[in-house]
Amino acid sequence: MPVEEPNGKVSVPEGLWKKCDSCHNIIYNKELEENFFVCSKCGYYFRLTSKERIKQLLDENSFNEMSADLQSTDPLSFSDTQKYSSKIKHAKNKTKLNDAVVTGFGKLDGRDIIISIMDFDFMGGSMGSVVGEKITRAVETAVKKKLPLIIVSSSGGARMQEGMFSLMQMAKTSASLSKLSEAKLPFISVLTHPVTGGVAASFAMLGDVIIAEPKALIGFAGPRVIEQTIKQKLPDDFQLSEFLLSHGQIDIISERKELKNTISEIVDLLYNDSNG
Ligand SMILES: [Zn+2]
Repeated sequence: MPVEEPNGKVSVPEGLWKKCDSCHNIIYNKELEENFFVCSKCGYYFRLTSKERIKQLLDENSFNEMSADLQSTDPLSFSDTQKYSSKIKHAKNKTKLNDAVVTGFGKLDGRDIIISIMDFDFMGGSMGSVVGEKITRAVETAVKKKLPLIIVSSSGGARMQEGMFSLMQMAKTSASLSKLSEAKLPFISVLTHPVTGGVAASFAMLGDVIIAEPKALIGFAGPRVIEQTIKQKLPDDFQLSEFLLSHGQIDIISERKELKNTISEIVDLLYNDSNG
């Protein structure tokens, strides 16, 4: 709780609150969590970690992680301002994850599903060999177990530090999804701010149903690059979920508090247990 200091200033103990990036109001963590990490003052969507996303989307304690031990190597011994190996080490310490996606089994309103959740805090959710392999394994497990697949994306694109190896993940994940489609199993792709580059250009856009959170930036190249290339001014809302919905590139915009219900309803419509 706020404490009034002798000089009349109000201080709030650190760690109990967050400042909204959009309206700069101070919001208590507890209040924020209860509101699905959406600012109650201005509606700004805070970024979720994979852990928070699991808590919001899946039935309590139903998540069972798979392929958690997979770790990136440094095939090109890449270095720019910093060695790639040091960046990975830093990202691991920061997120307590081994790479930028978490995959596993879970339950959604009592139904078994396979889910992959990208974590932007790990090197901008970039897709290298490990992300590609984990997504592919998740897809293959869904095919094998005859379960619906949900992928929640949040990514800046391919991981340039792995060069061609990261680009190959676009083909690899897309090819595996064609097997899911042949097996007539649903893939629901959930896009959260931002989804760009190689992830937008591969599995994220291949969902049978594509859902986005409001005002998420979704696209291949950023607006600045496009404006420079086509030498035209782009509309202000270009590449935001709302623009993409009105142009037919995505199917649904779901508020975060409704997201679990929305996904659950679609699974109900597209999947019947005779598949499994
Ligand atoms: Zn706000």
